[in-house]
Amino acid sequence: MSRSSPASPPASSPVWHPFTQHALQTDFPAIARASGVWLETDDGRRIIDAISSWWVTTHGHGEPRIAAAIADQAARLDQIIFATYTHEPAEQLARALVRLAPAGLSHVFYSDSGSTAVEVALKMALGYWASRGEPRTLFAALEHGYHGDTTAAMSAGARGLFSAPYEPMLFDVARIPFPAAGSEQATLKALDRACRDRSIAALIVEPLILGAGGMLTYAPAVLAAMAEICRRSGTLLIADEVLTGWGRTGTLFACEAAGVSPDILCTAKGLTGGSLPLAATLATPAIFDAHYATDRRRTFFHSSSYTANPIACAAALANVAIWETEPVIARVEQLAARQSAHLARLAGDRRFTSLRQCGTIAALDVAAQDAGYLAGVGPRIARAAAARGVLLRPLGHTIYVMPPYCIGAAELDVVYDTITSAIAELVAP
Ligand SMILES: *Cc1c(COP(=O)(O)O)cnc(C)c1O
Repeated sequence: MSRSSPASPPASSPVWHPFTQHALQTDFPAIARASGVWLETDDGRRIIDAISSWWVTTHGHGEPRIAAAIADQAARLDQIIFATYTHEPAEQLARALVRLAPAGLSHVFYSDSGSTAVEVALKMALGYWASRGEPRTLFAALEHGYHGDTTAAMSAGARGLFSAPYEPMLFDVARIPFPAAGSEQATLKALDRACRDRSIAALIVEPLILGAGGMLTYAPAVLAAMAEICRRSGTLLIADEVLTGWGRTGTLFACEAAGVSPDILCTAKGLTGGSLPLAATLATPAIFDAHYATDRRRTFFHSSSYTANPIACAAALANVAIWETEPVIARVEQLAARQSAHLARLAGDRRFTSLRQCGTIAALDVAAQDAGYLAGVGPRIARAAAARGVLLRPLGHTIYVMPPYCIGAAELDVVYDTITSAIAELVAP
């Protein structure tokens, strides 16, 4: 047995949780119900969901129109093989996505998660170049990027602790430096250099904010400049809008803010309002046409059992209906304004650094008090917040607030009061 492996205790539950070290975490409160911004445990404790249940819940938990659509569709048609048949929810949703997404995207391929949407995008890009007979097989991706936990998505994402054991199954990508404020030119130069030799099949980026990499933001103008470099060299641009889509960054899709139309766009998390797993990869006519031939070898070889599950599609259609009939953007703007006000209030607080915001997402770093102070600060803040009835899950020493859009002013106040009092508790007197 290796040195850091304690004998596992007798299991009280057979469940193996994601991104969880069971030797360090033993307490998993059971959530019995959720409504709006509130979670409720099976023993009746109420918790504010300040991170949208890992970035998925947009309007709020238990959104009535989405819940009704799910119940209705489940009774009508639950599941159907999508390689043989089609169905109305998938057809309607595809038309809606093409209507709502940046101009130029004309075809919709369904899958089940953000990771699979990215796998599909990368395979589409390789299929495109294969059918053109041009040997482009290398992908470019941003430093600190995150694109999911399946193998190709992991390959495109930043390497480190989380990927180390799996390196043997990952492929190399051209890594482009993150466009941190002040060093944007270095990013654009590096991308331009990589694209110049015309070997890059596609650049994959998270538009405007790198989520799992630490809520790192960059300006829309930089996204537009990266898109322009890609366009000049024929490099495909894949926008991974899995996190940023559905209003999170202030517009329906983040690409809108930069006036960018990618060749391929991935959406998942908020697609069903956060109610059911569903993803879509949108592509331009050029990508679709590259796979369109009587030659079977040019088929897009990808599927999952639940491709375009009708219940999930109905949930996504209800989400689209909410966007098209309710003032969602006004709610997003109001939340963004409240986040700005809270960040402005904390701007002079020396316990925090790098205060930043992208639409409804606010983030700040805990300043180092002394060497070693930052180690474990994230989990300690999460525990202190949990004791106060707020769900936070810092990324290292980065605290972020990404609530559902229905959060009220008083509830957001509670979240920030919790952050400041949790920090006060952790700072050595
Ligand atoms: C969460 C995320 C993914 C992966 O989505 P899953 O549904 O968890 O597989 C991919 N890309 C980005 C930018 C994400 O934030």
